[in-house]
Amino acid sequence: LPGFYLPVQAASVANPRLVKFNHGLARELGLDADALDTAQGAAIFSGQTVPDGAQPIALAYAGHQFGGFSPQLGDGRALLLGEIIDICGQRRDIALKGSGRTPFSRNGDGKAALGPVLREYLVSEAMHGLGIPTTRALAAVTTGDLVYRETAQPGAILTRVAASHIRIGTFQFFAARGETEKLRQLADYAIARHDPALRLAENPYLAFLAAVGARQAALVAQWMLAGFIHGVMNTDNTSISGETIDYGPCAFLEHFEPGQVFSSIDRNGRYAYANQPLVLRWNLTRLAEALLPLLHAEPNRAAELAEAALARLDGLYEAAWLDGMRRKLGLVQAAPGDAELARDFLAVLEAGRGDYTLAFRHLAAAAEGIEAALRGLLADGAMLDLWLQRWRSRLEQEAGSAPDRAKAMRRANPAFIARNHRVEEALTAATGDGDFAPFETLLQVLARPFDDQPEHGALAAPATPAQTARYQTFCGT
Ligand code: AMP
Ligand code: MG
Repeated sequence: LPGFYLPVQAASVANPRLVKFNHGLARELGLDADALDTAQGAAIFSGQTVPDGAQPIALAYAGHQFGGFSPQLGDGRALLLGEIIDICGQRRDIALKGSGRTPFSRNGDGKAALGPVLREYLVSEAMHGLGIPTTRALAAVTTGDLVYRETAQPGAILTRVAASHIRIGTFQFFAARGETEKLRQLADYAIARHDPALRLAENPYLAFLAAVGARQAALVAQWMLAGFIHGVMNTDNTSISGETIDYGPCAFLEHFEPGQVFSSIDRNGRYAYANQPLVLRWNLTRLAEALLPLLHAEPNRAAELAEAALARLDGLYEAAWLDGMRRKLGLVQAAPGDAELARDFLAVLEAGRGDYTLAFRHLAAAAEGIEAALRGLLADGAMLDLWLQRWRSRLEQEAGSAPDRAKAMRRANPAFIARNHRVEEALTAATGDGDFAPFETLLQVLARPFDDQPEHGALAAPATPAQTARYQTFCGT
């Protein structure tokens, strides 16, 4: 939409080289993968050659960062190359991240370093492998230039594919300026793009708020079920489409610890693991505030409508979480007490400092009567025994054989997640020695996280407690 962006050009770079190209995603997008996995592709994915008909732009947006409002953020180191209709008929954005300064760069250099680019590539593709809605990674290019952070690092550019780049912060940008007509235009555009059926709703803007809330509730529930900590859940990093976006200081839980924080900049633990559902509600409240002028002409009535929509969020989140927990526990039916059963398993994990991912994976074996692996994970056998008794008596209400149950549980409980120490190992080899083999292996394994891949068993093993205690992530800005 004119007025929502500024035209930009990528910075010229010394020596663009494609270090990773996603052939599967390219095919999904209807692109000629072989033609793009070339020097010409490197020129395109570094912004040096603009594809025919494309007009690169930087999008305007605002956002609450760690609770404080920044009225102007925008694409400071990214540009939107354009849109494409994929082979399923879905409209997808193709954007470059790390492509140089834009009018929104403020004091930043507009660049990205290879480590964070590969990190986003790896973790976003891992999330996709887990079946969690996410932006995707199409390509990673090294620029041949150095980027200066704490140290000089190889510069790189990520090509990101998203259902759209409209964020809660995009609405906040126009709401904060009191530009109600622009806000309406944006809402109409977002509805047409993501929720076309809502155009017929009695109050399309209210229905849109509810739809975004439902998508975000489902998304955050999936993060919680997978043990994913986004790390920087600012409103500018909250997508209207319900995709996980902006992989900076994200990380996965190792042992179950509700207060877990890995991000070096999250000093007060605002975005700690267990806070994510609360932040979801906080962020959606910011979207509701931005949309108020569209919800009703009468401000008090608009606020009532918004509050009613927001009041449903916790229930939606709880339902999505419980649904996922049932699958993780091998339950097909819904019965009273299931939520307590799930929470109490988490309490067993917390007390026993058991690895979150492996505990659920080993529970699948326990469904077939093999408990050794699960027991080996937890310090306190007595607490586990009590819980297992309750779980087994609950399973008696279920139809289906034990092997079928275990099989279904293995589709809900991954063997592999992007473990922090393995991600670091892969990035260190790639950025330090130019050795991409560990990155490639990890990427391949994480594409099928629900399959036992015994030859890669080491990648399923937890970090040591000392490694986890020391582990810190950075925004990569
Ligand atoms: P993020 O923390 O990645 O969500 O970014 C927050 C804001 O800072 C966005 O407006 C980014 O475009 C901007 N930003 C982050 N890194 C840079 C950079 N190296 N140069 C310019 N702008 C940046
Ligand atoms: Mg961001």
